[in-house]
Amino acid sequence: MTIHVPAPQPVPPIDLDPVSAEVRKAVRLLDRLRPGDPPALRRSYWVSGPLDLDALRAAWQLVLDRHAALRTPPNTVDGPPVSSGGPAHPDSFAVHGHDATPTAPGDLDTGPLAQLTVYPVTARHHRVVLSAHLAVADPRSMSALAAELSTAYGEAAGITPVRAAPPRDAAALVAAGEVAFDWGPDLGRAVRDLALREGTTVDTVLLAACHLVLARHREDDGVPIAVADDLRKPGQERVVGPMTTLSPVDGRVGDAGTFRAYLRRMARRRHAARRRPPSPSRWLVRADGPEHGGGPRATVLAVAVPAPLRLAGTEVVALPSQVLALPVDLLLTVGPTSGTLTGTLVSPADRIGRRWIEGFLGQLRTLLTVALRDPDLPLTELPLEDAAHRAATIRAADATAVPTPRPVTELIHRCQERFPDAVAVRGETGNLTYAELAAEASELAAWLNAQAPVAGRAVALRLPMGPALVRASLAVLHAGGHITWLDPTDAGDRVQTLLADLRPAILLVGDDATGEPLAEWFRIARGGLVLAAGSVPLSSAAPPTPSPAAPTAAAYVAFTAGSTGRPKGVVQTHAALAQFALWLARTAQLRPGARVAQWAAVTHDPSLCEVFAALTSGATLVPVPQRVRVHPERFVRWLDSEGITMVQTVPSFARELVGVIERDGSVPARLAHLFLIGEAVAAGLANRLRQALTGVRLWNLYGPTETVAASVYEIVAPVPGERVPIGRSIPGRQVLVVDGRGRHCPAGVPGEIVVRSRYAGPAYLPVEAGAGPDDASFRPLPGLPATADPAAGCYRTGDLGRRRFDGELEYLGRRDHQVKLAGHRLELAAVQAGLAEHPLVADCAVSPVTDPDGLVSRLVAFVALRADVELSVVVPQLRGLLRRRHGPVSHRTSFVSLDRIPRNPAGKVDRARLPDPRTVADDPGRAGSAGRPRRTEDEHG
Ligand code: AMP
Ligand code: MG
Repeated sequence: MTIHVPAPQPVPPIDLDPVSAEVRKAVRLLDRLRPGDPPALRRSYWVSGPLDLDALRAAWQLVLDRHAALRTPPNTVDGPPVSSGGPAHPDSFAVHGHDATPTAPGDLDTGPLAQLTVYPVTARHHRVVLSAHLAVADPRSMSALAAELSTAYGEAAGITPVRAAPPRDAAALVAAGEVAFDWGPDLGRAVRDLALREGTTVDTVLLAACHLVLARHREDDGVPIAVADDLRKPGQERVVGPMTTLSPVDGRVGDAGTFRAYLRRMARRRHAARRRPPSPSRWLVRADGPEHGGGPRATVLAVAVPAPLRLAGTEVVALPSQVLALPVDLLLTVGPTSGTLTGTLVSPADRIGRRWIEGFLGQLRTLLTVALRDPDLPLTELPLEDAAHRAATIRAADATAVPTPRPVTELIHRCQERFPDAVAVRGETGNLTYAELAAEASELAAWLNAQAPVAGRAVALRLPMGPALVRASLAVLHAGGHITWLDPTDAGDRVQTLLADLRPAILLVGDDATGEPLAEWFRIARGGLVLAAGSVPLSSAAPPTPSPAAPTAAAYVAFTAGSTGRPKGVVQTHAALAQFALWLARTAQLRPGARVAQWAAVTHDPSLCEVFAALTSGATLVPVPQRVRVHPERFVRWLDSEGITMVQTVPSFARELVGVIERDGSVPARLAHLFLIGEAVAAGLANRLRQALTGVRLWNLYGPTETVAASVYEIVAPVPGERVPIGRSIPGRQVLVVDGRGRHCPAGVPGEIVVRSRYAGPAYLPVEAGAGPDDASFRPLPGLPATADPAAGCYRTGDLGRRRFDGELEYLGRRDHQVKLAGHRLELAAVQAGLAEHPLVADCAVSPVTDPDGLVSRLVAFVALRADVELSVVVPQLRGLLRRRHGPVSHRTSFVSLDRIPRNPAGKVDRARLPDPRTVADDPGRAGSAGRPRRTEDEHG
């Protein structure tokens, strides 16, 4: 067949400069940033009917002939514009197998910069992809190219163009990660009306609303946004070239007041942004700053420019497709706005999941609907979710309705009846069976009551973990008292204050404590009773059945760090202890034969959970010997040789363990459950643990001592992002995120984590004298609906969190460890976690240096190195790590080498025992006491 190709009619040359030259420079930068993934525009079409490939090729050639820009040799794109290009690139037209992945145009060094690709699917079905590099085209160019191609094809194929059939619904073909919305004619009309009244455009209204939702998702006030603006002057509508620029728009919400006021401000800002001359940096709108977690860091609004293609004799459907590949996290495209309100929201780099995008669009629609109904509502009154949705979310988090369990004394008694010969506690010198434990505890209880009335009183137990402590603790509970465990090696001020507040009926020690300073102080200065558990004469009489404790009676008092330095006493009831022990036992599948490591320090309440979860389920409690406890190699071997099935530890120690397991391939044979507690769990650690410990179930257990624990997340799949979620409420609790006014935060919106439970509060243990700990954090929050359990109390944790759209909670750190460094927001824990990833860093802690104005001026990173390498060797790499994660922070950080990082018994960094960072930063030689610096490596920024 003869193909009639009309003579090319070149588009009159237009001086694209200076505008497009600047855009090209910017694009050149983008191109280099992402080698192999050139920034391109792509339009895909589904063509049904007889497609004439020769005609299509000829037509495309004609289009290329008309536009010198598309034939521009790649290496000249950022040079002066080339007015008459040479021949088109040989790969400008290609036919591929139908299952080939769509090709992008080549990069700026190789070309082609514009390409038409055909993917035959059947003889009568083709996918046609039109693509162009951002250096030579923009969205409107695509529209012009599609129109020209339509005309040229009709002529080349000798077919008079016919009116194409109306496009079919292509929703089913939406690309992954791209979510299309159609919010109907009512919302469309309302948006147009408001835009008209305010003298602005529909997309500005949408941008304002979108931006307000984004701002709620951030803790600070400023979401980087940019608008893709067309720079064509009148008469240039059909010009093909890089004529669209990104204009960053000031992204602060501030105190705009109402939606209308905010919309006006947004319109002004858009206008101002468009008047600024283009510059390369504008394309790089991705916020360079600390990781923010799930949500986007920069967003772009683009107005959709339809590019309908009509290939005569066929039916063409435009497929939704990635509009443009930009280094942004979110791209909002507003469709043609004649009838209904349509558009798409896409994460071009696929950094953000579909679930988030869908959830976000729901919030945008809710906010927009209310704002359009009443544009003069204060911004703070604009909801992100409707009442029904909010109620459902709050209800879904409410696990407070649980039956009241029997006290642990009774549960242990039942185990003794059912498995009398099972080992309850493994001892270094001898084991204790359930029968022995029950008998001896009862006798000890009787003896204790004979020494001093214990019922309703505290008994402080100062014994090492082992059969003796377990026996004595059970005895105290039998006698109607409640327990507090003390570190037998600690005699300092802290424990004295604690005993003064606790006023125990008895200080129970292991052996005769005559001459022991703390016991002497308690006896003489406090007039207290000190008894030695080891000196009790035990008879062999049958044990009496314990009288059950009331569920509301105290079972233990745990002391936790107060911000003032004075330990705060948390009193927990029998119901709280038994309920949590049973939940943990069920979760960790504890039963006779299971072996539970007792790893947590006795002064930290997880130890109580380990002990009572084991003993209420018939499992065996295996205390970790001191020489093994913090020694990763020995601990891994010990887990194996003791046949441990369940262990709890802090993530920082888990990191040591996984290092050993990876190195030696030594997976503890019977280990079935690993609980990570007490600290945020980095995604990297979770993923390593998953790899190294296949078959072991991994749990992230979150919660403060004030509620025993609060939420849990089982790590069942690779964890993307920075941190492992903390999951959902565990039974007996409702874990919510609330804003500064105590109102529920919608998904994605950060706030304070609040736990409502009958095991929370209502107050701390009163102190002996002076002002006690502030009980304000137990005050109820009247802005929340009632819980299923009418007896639930409330505790504000001081932790920051966020609920994801899938209902899982995320932990975002504490307000008090968040710092701003030269305007840069930083989470110290995050900096720490980043440094800890260096293979030579064994442990580290980061402290802020605060200047007299209370502003953080620099950071000091205390680093314990693994091998005996010079810190100066590692510092450049650490700076590199910091730079990558936190940008300008790196040159404001000093590094100090310590032999070890001081940690408290719970395994958390003991900041009080770190050298004073001010002394370190000023004078490396005079750093503080506990962790003595070995070397200092400083660099001032
Ligand atoms: P504590 O009362 O000693 O158990 O400390 C409770 C605090 O430790 C919480 O308020 C959190 O700040 C932190 N925490 C405990 N568990 C986790 C966890 N799984 N992820 C992140 N932080 C945690
Ligand atoms: Mg705790």
